[in-house]
Amino acid sequence: MSEKKNQWSRREFLKAAGIAGAGSVVAPFYRPANASERSDKMPLRPFGNTGLKVPILSFGGSLDTSLSMLVLRQAFKRGVTYWDTANTYMGGRSEKGIGKYLEKYPRDRQQIFLVTKSHAWTTSGLSRDLDLSLERMRTDYIDLYFLHSVREAGQLDGEIKSWAEKKKAQGKIRLFGFSTHSNMAECMSGASKLGWIDGIMMRYNYRLMHSDDMRRAVDACTKAGIGLTAMKTQGGGQVKTDSETELKLAGRFLDQGFTDAQAKLKAVWESPNIASICSEMPNMTILMANVAAAMDQTKLSARENALLRQYALETRSTYCAGCADICESAVAGDIPIGDVMRYLMYARSYDNPHRGGRRFRKIPLNIRVQMAKVDYSGAEGRCPQKMAIGRLMKDALTELV
Ligand code: SF4
Repeated sequence: MSEKKNQWSRREFLKAAGIAGAGSVVAPFYRPANASERSDKMPLRPFGNTGLKVPILSFGGSLDTSLSMLVLRQAFKRGVTYWDTANTYMGGRSEKGIGKYLEKYPRDRQQIFLVTKSHAWTTSGLSRDLDLSLERMRTDYIDLYFLHSVREAGQLDGEIKSWAEKKKAQGKIRLFGFSTHSNMAECMSGASKLGWIDGIMMRYNYRLMHSDDMRRAVDACTKAGIGLTAMKTQGGGQVKTDSETELKLAGRFLDQGFTDAQAKLKAVWESPNIASICSEMPNMTILMANVAAAMDQTKLSARENALLRQYALETRSTYCAGCADICESAVAGDIPIGDVMRYLMYARSYDNPHRGGRRFRKIPLNIRVQMAKVDYSGAEGRCPQKMAIGRLMKDALTELV
């Protein structure tokens, strides 16, 4: 590496540490400068067999991006050129903010891998949503269009396939796939057999990535040439310091120069089959800490990976793994236990009660009424994470209203 590059890297690195230290929610990445362990470019990985390469860090836009022009600009400049949004995020303000950016910097569009999503389950609804997304984001095409929150592979039927092919032929989308928060392994394994899914974004983190189901699903998708993006990589928020393992874990990472948040990103990047991590980065602090982690080449040691797994095991009853088929089939009615657990996670672990509450209140009132009366003991007996489902459903009814 040339001296000039070294200076650039060191300056960027120190900037990351300095900004992150300014009263931030994420602690600074303050590993002492060691040029051999850093890259001065955002690393890229192939996105399945699409022929495209994407940065290993992507910008999660489930926020009002119209208020985040600085972060978007700096993300672009630092190589975070994969941007993820959805037509529903912040009531459309996420897409509109990206449109505002692209209007100001139209030449950046070609370098941005732009993803958006729709919840519509009819082809007419998908067409309407896609056109609205194009208009809001002031672009002629979406690089990757997702069906949002697929819960079972059967939802990906022939009509959806024909719609995706038609929109590709029209040049409105380049690639098609889906996001999934529930029953992820089943959805991914099913998709790997279809032959027309280009990309998937799924919950994936140090808690979920080691299960046999998830390993098999990732392998099957990789063999099928599907590009994979991991989301929810923090696995339920920051490491607390309640137990001996937690203290050991957080302390060990800090000794190595990482925060636990950065270590969790590294754990996911160690899987070569994951093309990118989608991370919500609402401010410069988190952007710079994540960029620093992406550019640093240091790997977690076997001991650190073992500690993370031990921590995941000890705290498993605090984290819903999204295997909703298991618990929801054990209770009467249509209680969306997996979704409610996710909304609680937004409120409690992501410190975003508005987001959790907004989504919770979309559950029909009759189901919310039913939620209070149902017997959850059968579901609790089946839950692999040993979660106190009954108590948590009641908590949601009081915390998320
Ligand atoms: S509550 Fe338990 S069984 Fe239900 S989705 Fe979460 S981890 Fe799976």
